[in-house]
Amino acid sequence: MKLCAKKILARCLCIFFILNFLLLISCDRIESSHIEEALGTVCLVSLFEQGKKSVYKNIFSRIQEIEKLMSVNILSSDISRINAAAGKTPINVHEDLFYVIEKAKYFAQLSEGAFDPTVGPLVSLWGIGKNSHIPSQEEIENLLPLINWRNIELDASAYTVFLKLEGMALDLGAIAKGYAADEAVRIAKQAGVTRGIIDLGGNVFVFGEKKDKTLWKVGIQNPNERRGDAIGFLQTTEKTIVTSGIYERYFEENGKSYHHIFDPFQGYPAQNGLLSVTVITDNSMNADALSTAVFVLGYKAGSALIKTLPGTDAVFIFEDKSIKTTAGVNFTIMDDSFYFAEE
Ligand code: AMP
Ligand code: MG
Repeated sequence: MKLCAKKILARCLCIFFILNFLLLISCDRIESSHIEEALGTVCLVSLFEQGKKSVYKNIFSRIQEIEKLMSVNILSSDISRINAAAGKTPINVHEDLFYVIEKAKYFAQLSEGAFDPTVGPLVSLWGIGKNSHIPSQEEIENLLPLINWRNIELDASAYTVFLKLEGMALDLGAIAKGYAADEAVRIAKQAGVTRGIIDLGGNVFVFGEKKDKTLWKVGIQNPNERRGDAIGFLQTTEKTIVTSGIYERYFEENGKSYHHIFDPFQGYPAQNGLLSVTVITDNSMNADALSTAVFVLGYKAGSALIKTLPGTDAVFIFEDKSIKTTAGVNFTIMDDSFYFAEE
C-alpha cells in the first residue's frame, strides 16, 4: 500500500515537473496534452490544434508498438529474439526494427564506434538503474570483444539480423526514442495537427509555428538540479532537441558517480568533462544517436563531427560549468553559475 502511494506521488511529481518545464518553454497555451509511461520513460504529447482524442490514441499506440519491437526488457520483442539467437542464427524482423538497426550501424560507422548499438552486454553487466554495481576489470575485459557493431550482419532482401558472436546483444536505448518521436510527429501532421510538442523523456520535438509567430523556447535540463529545472533555453523554429546527460541514469559508490553512457572501447561510463550534450536538428532519430555519439566522443571530436552535418547544431555543458555551442544555436543561460566559453 505504502509503495503504491509512493509510486503515485512520484508519478504526479514527474508530471508536474514536465508540465512546468514545457509551460516555461512553450510560452504558448497548451490546449491539451497526454502523458504515458513507455520506452522506459515518461512520454508527454501536447497537440495545439486538431489534437483530437483519436490522434493521441494513434500516437501512443504507435509508441507502444515501437516499444514491443525494440525493448530488450520485453522477452518476446524482436530485439530480444535477435539477442537470444546471437552466434546461432539470423532472425527475420519487422521492417521498422530493421530500419532502426540499419541507421544505428550508420551512426556507429560515422562516429567510429563511439555510438555502438552492441553495448548490450555492458549495459547488463553494469545494471545501472537496476542492480547497479562496479564490475571487475576482468569482467569488463571479457565482454569487450562482444562490443563491435561490425559484427551485426544485415540482409535487406530477407529483413534478417544476425549477431555473429554468441553473447552479443543489441541495445537501442540510445536511438529508439528518437525514432518514436519522429513517428509521433508524422502521425500528428498526417492527422492535420499544425503544431505541438513531443517529449519522450528528453527527446523533444517542437513542430509547426507558434500562434504569435515567435520562436519556440525549449528548456535544456540543468544537469546539476532536479528534473524539470532548466539551465537555460534554446529559441528555434521547428526542430528536434535531444539531450544525452549523466543525470538520466546513474548510481554512486564511494563518492563517485557512474552514469549510463558507455565508452564502448573502455567499457566504463564515458568521462571527458561533459555533463550533457544536446543536439538540435530535423530528425529525432539522428539527433538521438548523435547526442550519445558526441557525448562519448567528447567536445573536440564531437563538435568536429557536428560541424560536418548540415542543419545540425549542439550545446555542450561541462563539469567546470562552462557551456559551448556551435554557430547556429540561439541559447540563453538561466542558471548564473554557468557561463559561455569560447571554442
Ligand atoms: P542516450 O540517453 O540517448 O544517450 O542513450 C543512453 C542509453 O543507450 C543507455 O542507457 C544504454 O542503453 C545505451 N548506450 C550506452 N552507451 C552507448 C553507446 N556508446 N552507444 C550506443 N548506445 C549506448
Ligand atoms: Mg541517444
